[in-house]
Amino acid sequence: YAAKAKRNTAVIFDEASFAQRLEQNRLAAALAVAADRDEFVVYYQQKVNLQTGKHLGFEALVRWRHPQLGILPPGRFLPLMEGHIIQGMTRCIVNIVARDLRTWKAAGLRVGSIAINLPEALLVGDDGYALIAAAVEANHLDWLDFSIEVTEDVFLNRGANQIIETISRFRKHGVSVSLDDFGTGFASLVHLRDFPFDELKIDRSFVAEIGKDIRSEQIIRAIIDLARNLGKRCVAEGIEDESQRDFLLNAGCEIGQGYFYAKPEPAAVAVDRLARRAVLRGISGRSRKLRV
Ligand code: C2E
Ligand code: MG
Ligand code: MG
Ligand code: MG
Repeated sequence: YAAKAKRNTAVIFDEASFAQRLEQNRLAAALAVAADRDEFVVYYQQKVNLQTGKHLGFEALVRWRHPQLGILPPGRFLPLMEGHIIQGMTRCIVNIVARDLRTWKAAGLRVGSIAINLPEALLVGDDGYALIAAAVEANHLDWLDFSIEVTEDVFLNRGANQIIETISRFRKHGVSVSLDDFGTGFASLVHLRDFPFDELKIDRSFVAEIGKDIRSEQIIRAIIDLARNLGKRCVAEGIEDESQRDFLLNAGCEIGQGYFYAKPEPAAVAVDRLARRAVLRGISGRSRKLRV
């Protein structure tokens, strides 16, 4: 949208924005070949049970290992991506996650399900479904090893009915569907009624206001109640401290993600965290003396 808006606006030449535009064009050109060059990387962020702190699964979050600039977050490159490039990137992500899952399962690690953020472009047609189906098949995985996250603005798409159809196909296999960034887009309550999903994710912009803005706190309470009354799970993203966790628990939210628990981390680091925990649990179970 930004690119289109810019084209339609008369811009007075200024050196800073010219340089910036040049930089964006360079990035976009490099992005076009990033998938072929295996430059996309997956970071994993834990989802935990807020009550017990127990690990429930991971969300897969893309990073781009740019040859000169290093690891870039999605905010730097997703806005520059066109349909078919997003498709190539998503194929990389799903393949990396499938390969990691296969390794972890072979090592006997229980990592829970891995959430894939599926963009609208792959939900309108068959592509997103086919991609995950192929990954499950090729790596001898279970459908339940995956879950998917979609943002609420897919409702605004003309293909909303097709998207609902795709999502229903996932759910028939038991795959959990989350409505991501809830509260920031334009989804109406009608969509919430008609859209088949399992989990509502409260956007972190609300969570960040806990303890600061009473209105945000009331909105969070309302979202949690709404989710519960619709029979959905509720997840809070962006939990950074204990007081936010306590508020959310108190308000009835069951699941959370955030730096307070774990940042998005490379596969080896994320899994190490799990393994360390398992070992600690094993030790304290066997020998009570070690417990302080
Ligand atoms: P999202 O799906 O809502 O992911 C949550 C974002 O919040 C992630 O940013 C995560 O790093 C960040 N986050 C989590 N906990 C905290 C916290 O405690 N504090 C703060 N400040 N931030 C936290 P990230 O990784 O930069 O991703 C941004 C967005 O890019 C994602 O939002 C998602 O919409 C999109 N994205 C990421 N990976 C993919 C992907 O593989 N495919 C697609 N299509 N989109 C992706
Ligand atoms: Mg997400
Ligand atoms: Mg989110
Ligand atoms: Mg978000």
